Amino acid sequence: MNVLVVGGAGYIGSHCVRQLIAAGHRPVVLDNLVYGHRDAVAPDLAFYDANLGAEATVGQILRDEKIEVVMHFAAFAYVGESVNDPLKFYFNNVVATLYLLHAMLDAGVKKFVFSSTCATYGVPQSMPITEALPQAPINPYGQTKLDIENALKALAHAHGLSFAAFRYFNAAGAYEDGAIGEHHDPETHLIPLAIDAATGLRPPLQVFGNDYPTPDGTCLRDYVHVDDLSRAHIAVFEKLATPGTALFYNLGTGTPTSVLGVIRAVEKITGKPVPHSFAPRRAGDPPALYADSTKAKTELKWTPKFTSIEPIVATAWKWHQAKPKGYAR
Ligand code: UDP
Repeated sequence: MNVLVVGGAGYIGSHCVRQLIAAGHRPVVLDNLVYGHRDAVAPDLAFYDANLGAEATVGQILRDEKIEVVMHFAAFAYVGESVNDPLKFYFNNVVATLYLLHAMLDAGVKKFVFSSTCATYGVPQSMPITEALPQAPINPYGQTKLDIENALKALAHAHGLSFAAFRYFNAAGAYEDGAIGEHHDPETHLIPLAIDAATGLRPPLQVFGNDYPTPDGTCLRDYVHVDDLSRAHIAVFEKLATPGTALFYNLGTGTPTSVLGVIRAVEKITGKPVPHSFAPRRAGDPPALYADSTKAKTELKWTPKFTSIEPIVATAWKWHQAKPKGYAR
């Protein structure tokens, strides 16, 4: 299939581009390179440096490239920033996405794969999290993702759009050959920060809270390999053939790992201690978030290849060794 990957130069999008090629599809990348990295995409691929909300440009690309499916990864995703600057998030994550959807409908492209998030659940009432739990985001980031989920439902009903919204847990790791990986600026994610603390590239890690009601007092998260996420996005294609299909899936391994558990894994894989200290809780962090992904496993035959933290960290370590400072700017 000809697939427009919006945000294809970002962390998850760039991995999906590679997985699409591996599965025999033809990705076309659109990215404005605000957070994405040109070097994360092979130079010979079709690449458009454009804004997803530039409706006329996007419409032209959809037609010129004979796009059949659009995958949308391009979102602002810093939770704290979304609290302090909500309009930035609403303009990009909601308004620009609506222009993208309008361009698609106008061009007759009616298959859409959307990056959503477990942040749409807010502080869940029970664990593990199934798709049936109520969605009540506690920050603007989660709310913008939920707003698009709801818009998609309406478009499926009104215009026969077929879509899948994937609610990610903690995307982690890197492509297995170490050629592409995680590089955020600023970096706020646990695994790259722990690796950089171990190698001395950054200061000691601060563990945000050790007084949570969890076995070791630190937060539990569900780290899922970025290539496993990508494979689910491709596995859903055939389900989108029926007009008006509306699908929602949690994507996680179901295995909770604590912050101290991640530190232990990084120490084992790198062979270096991770200098760390305990710091106050970070605002907005729920004690535990992990997925029940039975629905994706059953309906998409999705079987995550990486089911525990150490092999995931090993891929992140391989990427780090190849490019300690990430992509050149
Ligand atoms: N975390 C931490 N120190 C850091 C960064 C993250 O203790 O410097 C913790 C954070 O509180 C959370 C977990 O690591 O419990 C995962 O955080 P991350 O930012 O990687 O992902 P999130 O769960 O926020 O999506």
